[in-house]
Amino acid sequence: MSALAALGLAPIINAAGTVTRLSGGILAPEVVAAMAEASAACFDMLDLQAAASREIAAATGAEAGIVTGGASAALLLGAAACMAGLDPVAMNALPAAGPRRDFVMSRSQRNMYDRALEVAGGRIVEVGIPDRFSGAGVRDASAGEIAAAIGPNTAAVFWVAQPWSEPSLEEVVRVAHAAGVPVLVDAAAQLPPLAHLRGFLEAGADLVAFSGGKAIGGPQASGILAGRRKLVASALLQMLDLDLPEAQFRLPPEFAGNALMPFLPRHGIGRSCKAGKEEVVGLLVALRRFLAEGEAPRQARMLARLRAVQAAMGSTPCEIAEGPTPLLLLRCGDAAAAARVEAALRARRVHVNQGRLRDGVLVVHPAALAERDLVPLGQALAAAFASDLGWAP
Ligand SMILES: *Cc1c(COP(=O)(O)O)cnc(C)c1O
Repeated sequence: MSALAALGLAPIINAAGTVTRLSGGILAPEVVAAMAEASAACFDMLDLQAAASREIAAATGAEAGIVTGGASAALLLGAAACMAGLDPVAMNALPAAGPRRDFVMSRSQRNMYDRALEVAGGRIVEVGIPDRFSGAGVRDASAGEIAAAIGPNTAAVFWVAQPWSEPSLEEVVRVAHAAGVPVLVDAAAQLPPLAHLRGFLEAGADLVAFSGGKAIGGPQASGILAGRRKLVASALLQMLDLDLPEAQFRLPPEFAGNALMPFLPRHGIGRSCKAGKEEVVGLLVALRRFLAEGEAPRQARMLARLRAVQAAMGSTPCEIAEGPTPLLLLRCGDAAAAARVEAALRARRVHVNQGRLRDGVLVVHPAALAERDLVPLGQALAAAFASDLGWAP
């Protein structure tokens, strides 16, 4: 009997994308094999993270990088690094942070993942009025407002990467660096395009967080924190298990060295979100594959999945939207109709993306679909449409 059957678990069809709530995506056999290989041996975690730093530096152009337990963990660790630097007293104090605990950000970029900054002991300072989103006008936070909010308590400026983010990263970097504070970027879901692996760092970001379990195709509980060597070293120190005789501790050269620290801190604020050897190795192999495949072949692979779903839908109306990741759109009429079709699909263990539910559109995201899902998914979509909206194929 398979392990899943023994547990009484039946899989769902995940057409929502690599979302955490639905367990992320499906790993390539090479990634699974690498994780199995790592799981059959033991390592010093410092050696694993030093290897990770070399790979991540080559892929992103960063001075250093580590594998974390997800992008949210990377944000928590990045925030802890911006607050404590390489000061073990400050590390030991978190989350009851010292004076430098403020993260300045545009109010329009607030989102549920910024909780990670507060978990580490940070305090969010919101700037600007997002009139362009409230519908009252055209403005959003300005670089001047961010500059004015930076003071002696500022740990970093926090910028959430989205195509519509304002002010731009370049403007935010300019005012933050002029005031001598770093810029921490949440780019968790900003891959593809591949160019984003380097883009935010090239624009001057000091630390960038990416999800490992989204487009990169790594383990669900993996992420990347990349950026300036001292900040990455601080993040690593606050995640690693430090239960060893102090004199034995040597930070590898990839992370600047511990000569800068007067003593070794206790287990840090990030010890509770450790990345295991399987995550580290799995993420690095997935990252290599992601880079080797490149933009156009990945897009073509995703498009082929959607075409197979479309073919199994018969004459049910739908359209493919081009983009960094192509999507299949199903227009249901209005929000209520879309909600009914979505519920009917969920009753068949099919989960579609609900990001455009308010527009009456259901979205099929190809990233977390297995080959075996494509025909049953198309059939389920056609059946749900036929019964709920009266489409006669
Ligand atoms: C997905 C996401 C995260 C969290 O990433 P994990 O790897 O699941 O921890 C954080 N921020 C944003 C904007 C995201 O989309």
